[in-house]
Amino acid sequence: MILFQKDSSFEVASINLVKMRRIGNLNGIEKKVGLTMRDLRGLRVLITGASGGIGRCIAEQATRAGARVALVARSANTLEAIVAELKREGHDALAVPADVTVPAERQRLLDTVVDHFDGFDVLINNAGIGSWGHFTGGSEEILRQIMEVNFFAAAELTRLAVPILTRGRQPAVVNVSSMCGRRGMPAWTEYSASKFALCGLTEALRGEFARFDIDVLLVVPGLTRSDLNRHLLRSEGRYPIPYEKGMPPVDVATAVLEALRHNRTETVLGNDARWMLRVNRFLPRLVDRLLARRVRHLY
Ligand code: NDP
Repeated sequence: MILFQKDSSFEVASINLVKMRRIGNLNGIEKKVGLTMRDLRGLRVLITGASGGIGRCIAEQATRAGARVALVARSANTLEAIVAELKREGHDALAVPADVTVPAERQRLLDTVVDHFDGFDVLINNAGIGSWGHFTGGSEEILRQIMEVNFFAAAELTRLAVPILTRGRQPAVVNVSSMCGRRGMPAWTEYSASKFALCGLTEALRGEFARFDIDVLLVVPGLTRSDLNRHLLRSEGRYPIPYEKGMPPVDVATAVLEALRHNRTETVLGNDARWMLRVNRFLPRLVDRLLARRVRHLY
């Protein structure tokens, strides 16, 4: 199997292997690539999905830690209001209204950020949408839309960002996946598929991008008290999800920035996610049976 492309030197390949050996096998509880500390002060960070929820909190915390931040989302007015507030506090922030699913807008948003910050160092692919309901009652359109936002946009934005990131300081890509990206959940079918794809992309790129010295980090949150449930493409599931018991998005944001500081390759967040992924790792058939029993009971 060819692990490294032919233009990567033997030396780079050796470094990659050393880095890979350092990755623990705790199945995503918290793995570290290396011991690198990343100083957030002065770091130029581009965050997608920054008009609310987790993305907004990441932007607010990152600027307070001294980073300069570009906030991307479709809601221009909301972005401008957040940026105005950050600027009032004396931070360097830029609103970049854009739909990340549109190729021309992806290029435009990167150009805008590069013009303003003279490049950037960290890309956080956080924009996401979901759909709640069984696959048979959904549609190809919903499936494609979710894949566009949660997977293709992150993948293509990353591809476009590589030449910019290679010129950055301690460059990194952070992908915000989900517990559903490590264990598929009934009624979150399209969402689970998109987040699994994002996890696979992240792991593969981690090896590839070692030759560019770009770190590729994954965050796997459990239930979070954001606006995701108000933005669902459909909301037809029957299981009563206790959104009010989810983590505050500010906790997720703190963990994202900690992952960046300590270069953690994968961070699982929330007791629900940790519990589910641990049990699923050792007893996947039991989890299958429990979920199937719940579905039969509800339908
Ligand atoms: P929110 O719905 O609060 O935020 C989603 C963000 O994505 C918004 O800023 C939205 O802005 C943006 N967005 C959606 N579509 C597009 C698009 N086409 N182009 C640009 N921006 C877009 O949800 P969260 O904060 O919870 O979600 C953030 C991430 O966390 C998502 O990837 C989600 O899957 C993940 N996550 C969330 C969990 C939860 O329980 N909430 C659990 C696990 C993971 P706008 O509408 O203005 O474009």
